[in-house]
Amino acid sequence: MNDAARNRAIDAPVVVEVGLGDRGYDILIGPGLLDRAGEEIAQRLPGTRAAIVTDENVATAHLATLQAGLDRGGVASTIITLPPGEKTKSFAHLQDVVDGILAARLERRDSVVALGGGVVGDLAGFAAGIVRRGMNFVQMPTSLLAQVDSSVGGKTGINSPRGKNLVGVFHQPKLVLADTDVLDTLPLREFRAGYAEVAKYGLIDRPDFFVWLEKNWRDVFAGGAARIEAIAQSCRAKADVVARDEFELGDRALLNLGHTFGHALEGAVQYDGARLVHGEGVAIGMALAHRFSARMNLASPDDAARVEAHLQAVGLPWRMADIPGELPGAEALLDFITQDKKVSRGTLTFILTHGVGQAFVAKDVPASEVLAFLKESHPA
Ligand code: NAD
Repeated sequence: MNDAARNRAIDAPVVVEVGLGDRGYDILIGPGLLDRAGEEIAQRLPGTRAAIVTDENVATAHLATLQAGLDRGGVASTIITLPPGEKTKSFAHLQDVVDGILAARLERRDSVVALGGGVVGDLAGFAAGIVRRGMNFVQMPTSLLAQVDSSVGGKTGINSPRGKNLVGVFHQPKLVLADTDVLDTLPLREFRAGYAEVAKYGLIDRPDFFVWLEKNWRDVFAGGAARIEAIAQSCRAKADVVARDEFELGDRALLNLGHTFGHALEGAVQYDGARLVHGEGVAIGMALAHRFSARMNLASPDDAARVEAHLQAVGLPWRMADIPGELPGAEALLDFITQDKKVSRGTLTFILTHGVGQAFVAKDVPASEVLAFLKESHPA
């Protein structure tokens, strides 16, 4: 084997398959994938042209590399750049993306390529799902959160003024290229936020993975093999759930562990990323879900303490008091939760747990219990 071939073998990406039959696809995880994007895309989608949708931060750091990579593979591209941040997941920016795709005269067999975090992926995926009744879609996730969660599984969409992720479609990508090199430019705070979703897979039903993370999280943060391993494990976990329940009629809801409390907190700070980003909301939400489960005598308080300790060790917020500035009161937080959910006769559906790695869907959780718990946990 010559040097080039050897380097290529060392750098060969980990491949995780999403088993959805004729809509199945590969997730490639490893270094250097932006450089090889043209080759990987052209192989699977011969003759396709691309609209790269990205945000200003990611464009500055990585767009030139991707464009050169697409050029090398003979994939012609046009670029649509958006402002960064959760507020971009809006009707106004959806219109910008749709206009950009149509202005470039792309057709159904052409591809929308999302180069960015979960915001870009959700928005670009939605546009790909609706322009010309569905175009090809390729995810090139650049945040840890997007690499381990949002780029896999086909949920796309935007926020409505009435709530988060309320408008969207299921539209699976044809390919996910998770280039682990790009994480080197991701701010530490955002890396940590993505790590919350990594830990989530352990907490749902992979207790051994959680133990591994407790031991190895420093190496995951440092980069290299442990980081790739954590991303691959997370993608396998997500791919398994998605293959079992693509449209969230059952099990897939478990992926929402921590999200009911987390979304309420994001709403309560009006999606102000300076105060709370999505993954941080999930971290606090997971800690609250474990504490609430202990309060309901469903799990041991030791498990809640273990989760809180791990989140704290990695530097994530884990309680409401960690959010800077004032929060609305417990009643108002409950309003955010009930807006997000169907309330039937005063009861709610939550993801609760019997302990680390034993999450379950709990129907009929009394709203009065949630309110009492929010009052106890509220910093005011
Ligand atoms: P994000 O897209 O806002 O990215 C976070 C920040 O990091 C942004 O400022 C972005 O510009 C910057 N960034 C991203 N990659 C970078 C890089 N490599 N270098 C430098 N800066 C970089 O947020 P996110 O945390 O990636 O995603 C959160 C969104 O994902 C939320 O809207 C959430 O609802 C959604 N989400 C969707 C799913 C799904 O299944 N579709 C799952 C989980 C979360």
